[in-house]
Amino acid sequence: MKIFCVGRNYTEHAKELKNEVPAEPVIFLKPKSALLAPGAQFYYPEFTNELHYEAELVLYISKNGRYIPESQAHKYYDHITVGIDFTARDIQAELKKKGLPWEKAKAWDGSAVTGRLIRLTPDMLNAPLAFSLKINNVLVQQGSSSDMLFSFNRIIADISQYFTLNIGDLIYTGTPAGVGECVVGDVLAGYLGDEKLFEFEIN
Ligand code: ZN
Repeated sequence: MKIFCVGRNYTEHAKELKNEVPAEPVIFLKPKSALLAPGAQFYYPEFTNELHYEAELVLYISKNGRYIPESQAHKYYDHITVGIDFTARDIQAELKKKGLPWEKAKAWDGSAVTGRLIRLTPDMLNAPLAFSLKINNVLVQQGSSSDMLFSFNRIIADISQYFTLNIGDLIYTGTPAGVGECVVGDVLAGYLGDEKLFEFEIN
């Protein structure tokens, strides 16, 4: 399986990191080894001093495809969850300054956390999907699919021009404003609407 991530998909988040708002989806990948296994412990990585959370809606790809038109893209995912695209922000800042790839900041073991998968219903797809992240029971991030620059279908159309999508691939669809640091001992809980899809502690 592959893990795709969309960068700068919410205007307010692009602004808070002083990035340009992109004209087409910004795509990067994490390897399979980045996925934190369900129930596994999350450990604060030793190579960073600035671990950031990015709460995101995550799509589960349910059909193989390439060159998928935007009008057909809805047939290629059937579950959704909330996840965290963990980022070593200090490492990323150094890499960005030098114009180097992001993987050391974004693609390390355990950097992709996902919650419980929820089956998508037509009703859910016809309304904005709200999601949020609480740390130690305090709301730190909230977003809605309606605020995304590029929709789920546009993202799938774009990715599939370059990469074959396979059943089981995940797409992190970008984070809204409000990213920030977390430290050892923090308890992170992700919600889709009012439903809690994950909760874990930073060890
Ligand atoms: Zn992200």
